[in-house]
Amino acid sequence: GSARSVRRPRPEPVDLDRCAIVAAEEGVPLVTGEHVEYANLDYAASAPCLTPVADALSAALPYYASVHRGAGHHSQVSTDAYERARRSVARFLGVRTEPADAVVFVRGTTDALNLLARSVPQGCTVVVFESEHHASLLPWEHPASQAGAVIRLPLPGSPEAAVDAARAALATAPQGPRLLCVTAASNVTGEIWPVEELVAAAHAEGARVVVDAAQYVPHLPFHLERTGADYVALSAHKLYAPFGSGVLAGRADWLREAVPYLSGGGATRSVTDHDVVWNDLPARHEAGSPNVLGAVALAAACDTLTPKVQESLHIRESALVERLRAGLAEIDGVHELSLWGDEHPRVGIVSFVVDGLPADLLAAALSAEYGIGVRDGLFCAHPLTRHLLPEGHGQAVRASLGIGTTWEHVDRLVGAVADLVAHGP
Ligand code: PLP
Repeated sequence: GSARSVRRPRPEPVDLDRCAIVAAEEGVPLVTGEHVEYANLDYAASAPCLTPVADALSAALPYYASVHRGAGHHSQVSTDAYERARRSVARFLGVRTEPADAVVFVRGTTDALNLLARSVPQGCTVVVFESEHHASLLPWEHPASQAGAVIRLPLPGSPEAAVDAARAALATAPQGPRLLCVTAASNVTGEIWPVEELVAAAHAEGARVVVDAAQYVPHLPFHLERTGADYVALSAHKLYAPFGSGVLAGRADWLREAVPYLSGGGATRSVTDHDVVWNDLPARHEAGSPNVLGAVALAAACDTLTPKVQESLHIRESALVERLRAGLAEIDGVHELSLWGDEHPRVGIVSFVVDGLPADLLAAALSAEYGIGVRDGLFCAHPLTRHLLPEGHGQAVRASLGIGTTWEHVDRLVGAVADLVAHGP
């Protein structure tokens, strides 16, 4: 047929107003007794709730009931909502359909990675960088893990060195099941890891890859099928929905074979006095009454943060984080932590130290005197943070940005650090 001119729909403008966050109205108290608007710069710990998430929770509250168990109307409504939530999360993560990836609701990223550690084939070799968050560093070595050898790779000097080191470790590991675990965006430096290159290298060696996307998905879209990653883990409370919900998604085969990580109702198909027949996925790994409201909230965040919305938010956030980094760089004695240098792409996380000002004192003064919330410490990634700290520093301060962050918040932090350097806390 002839090419008739088709009227293409105009791209929808991205409605960022839909991404407002639920903020407390009364502000936070300062030592002076004054109240100021809270400058929350601790999104990487837990992000505040989006209004569409709060709305979805309110709508679900009158109906919540135990799912997959009750015949009553509310139980049916809740079961529908729970399974709809699973489909939203599946869409958000770009799961594969042939063969279908599993989408298992868990409590968060820590839970997801512990579940995977107990579900890999017995003796699976696991390769992991020492730079990982403890949630992705440690589950493989737990006594209940099914993993065999766990190979810890030292901090790589560049993204290319990371890919080479992973490839070499997987190539020389005993043949048989092998798994590479990598974090997509560091919770300490915000630096983005070369996930697609790592996946290509691992797959060339016949290994699988699990991606800890806890700090990545709040900032950028992550797509399982497009990246080729085998598994992905995330936490709702870092993705603008409340605590206690998260996901492990990915290849169903290992998970289908594994003995459930939690034993109990829901995970079983049949129990007699001498036998247990475990359920198929995903119920197999969701023993106990599931967190329906957590799943509904997480799904509302996933539905709101479409790739287009995330891209728009990322442009805004990149400008904010560059302003913050440039402001801090101008203050004498401030050093930013980074593994791969100033130019390497990152999400909205900046960790730094100030000469002569211990991190805990600095963080406390930022809160008490300026109403700014940051985190101090080693950020559950002790080996990485210790490695990056300049001589003479035991801890760092982390500022992390998100949807509710404003220019004023960033400028307040830079101004406060400059003041504290000049006058002391
Ligand atoms: N992985 C990374 C990169 C993180 O930043 C966190 C946050 O604490 C986790 C895993 C653990 O997440 P959760 O505490 O929600 O299990």
